[in-house]
Amino acid sequence: MNAPDARPDLRQIDTWIFDLDNTLYPAECELLALCDERMTDFTAQQTGLGREEARALQRRYLHEHGTTLAGLMANHGVDPHEFLDHAHDIPLDRLIPDPRLADGLARLPGRRLVFTNGSQKHAARVLDALGIAGLFEGVFAVDTAPGFIPKPQAPAFANMTQAHAVSPRSSAFFEDTERNLGPAAELGMTTVLVGATLAAPPADFVHHHAASLPDFLLSARVLEQAA
Ligand SMILES: [Mg+2]
Repeated sequence: MNAPDARPDLRQIDTWIFDLDNTLYPAECELLALCDERMTDFTAQQTGLGREEARALQRRYLHEHGTTLAGLMANHGVDPHEFLDHAHDIPLDRLIPDPRLADGLARLPGRRLVFTNGSQKHAARVLDALGIAGLFEGVFAVDTAPGFIPKPQAPAFANMTQAHAVSPRSSAFFEDTERNLGPAAELGMTTVLVGATLAAPPADFVHHHAASLPDFLLSARVLEQAA
């Protein structure tokens, strides 16, 4: 990781790619805990396992396949649309628009995209609840991806960069899940790990750390936008 810099230099970036959950809103919202409960219910229903075992299986699939969904599809033939609708059917009242985040995003020159292992519908709801939907040119969601291939699998990155004609060398990718930054760095993107605390020293493929996304975006050196 680059030495901590009060004003990170991102003047080479013209494409800004953001993970959604726990990146565009703070993990402290614990919104994913609600999705997690619903995924456990669904996994238990589909496999006939008890809740405890279903949860363990869910964790294993998340670890081995990138998402619980990918594991359920590969091993249990679940309908991905049914899974996603079930998992994301949660109230969003924990999400509160942050004007500093909107300002930080708005000052970035070029395009802003969302790249999420959640669904299109979930992304649209969350961006709307955060009041930042209008700031993004596009969303590449797991149900946009051919075969529902999730991050951190390499084809997910190939599909996303192709779908949005992304040039990795002038792109930055923001994520709270460290392992998802590896393939981005491999492609030549600048990577930013988002999250208040670092559990351990970050991996070599992490170029910057943003304890607070709004602070990071507002302080970064970026190309001046043409008036
Ligand atoms: Mg995330």
